Amino acid sequence: MSPAVEDEAYPFAAPFRAPQGSPIRELFKYVGRPGMISFAGGYPSKDLFDREGIAQALDAAYRSDPIACLQYGDTAGAPLLRRSLAQLMAARGVDCCAEDVVVTTGSQQGFDLLLRTLIAPGDTVLIEEPAYPAAIQALRLAGAHIVAVRTDIDGIDVDALAAQLDALPAASKPKLLYTVPTFANPTGATLPQARREALLRLAVARRIVLVEDDPYGELRFSGTAVPPLLAMAEACPGARDWVVYFGSLSKIVAPGLRIGWTVAPAPIARRMIVAKQTSDLCTAPLSQETARHYLDSGAFEVHLRSIVGAYRSRCDALLKALAHFAPHDIEFSAPAGGMFVWARLTGGRDAGEVLKRAIEQNVMFVPGVAFFVREPDPSTLRLSFAAPGEAEAFEGARRLALALAQH
Ligand code: PMP
Repeated sequence: MSPAVEDEAYPFAAPFRAPQGSPIRELFKYVGRPGMISFAGGYPSKDLFDREGIAQALDAAYRSDPIACLQYGDTAGAPLLRRSLAQLMAARGVDCCAEDVVVTTGSQQGFDLLLRTLIAPGDTVLIEEPAYPAAIQALRLAGAHIVAVRTDIDGIDVDALAAQLDALPAASKPKLLYTVPTFANPTGATLPQARREALLRLAVARRIVLVEDDPYGELRFSGTAVPPLLAMAEACPGARDWVVYFGSLSKIVAPGLRIGWTVAPAPIARRMIVAKQTSDLCTAPLSQETARHYLDSGAFEVHLRSIVGAYRSRCDALLKALAHFAPHDIEFSAPAGGMFVWARLTGGRDAGEVLKRAIEQNVMFVPGVAFFVREPDPSTLRLSFAAPGEAEAFEGARRLALALAQH
């Protein structure tokens, strides 16, 4: 291609004229550096994958029905996987059947499909802040008018949200609200039951689609389980009509499978399936069949118990080490599950600046600015305890303290 042809020569659609790549993905060039201890990625630990169990599921899937694995499949998903996922949803307290489940290529695709069906440029959407960056990015690319919703240590402050909605001009009536109510990315926060009830009532009263993104909900290692919004919607008249639920096997089995799913009200689900027809026709059948065999074999439950135990130990190790090495430099939350610790540097320090020193010390995290829609709090940061083992977490916290001392 001629180097004379500049970006501006092409007739890009408005959101792609000056696109910003994912701020987190930009950091990944450092992750592979020898000796690097990364608290940055929201990746499951590579040493916790059930390699043998998945190999067996892949083998069983292929041997039992090679044609199902090799041929195109239904856009809405393989019927038997939909059935297995409906059973998984029942275990989460959600009453649904196979036909209610749409399989997607990761839950990220589900969100993208939902935005295609609901959001036109200029439409108002609500998103908790701080928020999962790829959700912010998807909303930006959809051309949405993004309104950030305040959160505290327990997630969305529903009273503040109601007041915020009252103050919005009628022309900006929001179409949807995106939230990760259980073990949020990045804050690790879990919305308490009473706030969930209030949020459901608000969604029904104001006719706002409540997007419940739930990839981490099963990774609880302490405290009492809180049901998903979708499960609680049963007891709130009309609420099932306003909740769209996204599940994923990425954090509880393996992201490489790219298996996510959506449970949505039928009119929304039907349109998402039409959108998916033009997106990828169907999620990779080999992957779907493997996932189905894995879920049905019983290996999944064993694996889940084992990773939850490992994440509990890793989270403990990180929190203890932070308290030990940097007791006055950093304040942090203690999550009851998931993969993330949300922290704040004391003394008004900028996490982006500290990251530069940290990378020199071979330790990484994600500065909080990546998770904000508008005015970021530069002293915040996200630490993921999923990847480093306990000894590594300890060493990582020691290096982080060195970087803080240098700053
Ligand atoms: N939602 C949240 C909150 C996430 O953290 C992630 C992965 N980082 C996803 C969705 C995407 O998951 P999937 O791999 O299923 O597309």
